[in-house]
Amino acid sequence: MSKESINKNFKYIRLSYTLRENSLVHIGLNPLKIRPINRISQGDNYNTSLITAENHCGTHIDAPAHFILGGRFISDYSPEELSFTHPMVLDCPKKPGELVDVEDVSKIRDDKLDCLLLCTGFHQYHDTDPKLYLEQNPGISPGAVYYLRDKFPKLRCVGIDSVSMSRYGHAEESVEVHQAAFRENEDFGKPLLFVEDLDLSDIDKNTQIQEVIVVPWQVGDLDGAPCTVLAKIGLR
Ligand SMILES: [Zn+2]
Repeated sequence: MSKESINKNFKYIRLSYTLRENSLVHIGLNPLKIRPINRISQGDNYNTSLITAENHCGTHIDAPAHFILGGRFISDYSPEELSFTHPMVLDCPKKPGELVDVEDVSKIRDDKLDCLLLCTGFHQYHDTDPKLYLEQNPGISPGAVYYLRDKFPKLRCVGIDSVSMSRYGHAEESVEVHQAAFRENEDFGKPLLFVEDLDLSDIDKNTQIQEVIVVPWQVGDLDGAPCTVLAKIGLR
């Protein structure tokens, strides 16, 4: 396809990191390993590799089964459920270990909102200060999750540019945050999905984000999976 035929009104960018052997992973998870099995350079006819990865490594999506017995697996979700046409990036700068709280999310006015990406600014430490990135990540408060589910019934996905939606070292809060999102609740819409470890470095205040598409590894019966996140960005 010639360059001229590429649409000039929008482009797609990635909001996910490339998985590599040295990719940052949440503390306590096994690092990703890539082991060469066949190598042309060693006389084999082709190249192949064995990848060993925990399902929450790198940019990844959490499905309800991550914290809820009987909750949906990520492989249960259709492509329609993983694409979002009313996304928004919420600029909510956070210091290490701070929470995105009700006060931050109460600024949102879009009642069609289906995907909320929290830009805490913490993505700036992903490459420059891995220790800070992993040990003092900002998260979201359980109260903010309940607020979002209550006010935005069409909301289906919340993502964050830090290693987790919950702060490292706050085990109880972590369970509460995830259960607040993933539990079936008659008063709210469907349970949410969480996307963690987003790369929002290409997003700024002027970015017109028109669509978000999450493409997880399609592995059956997993509570979450590494994913590619695509954003359609308006150019006018
Ligand atoms: Zn996860």
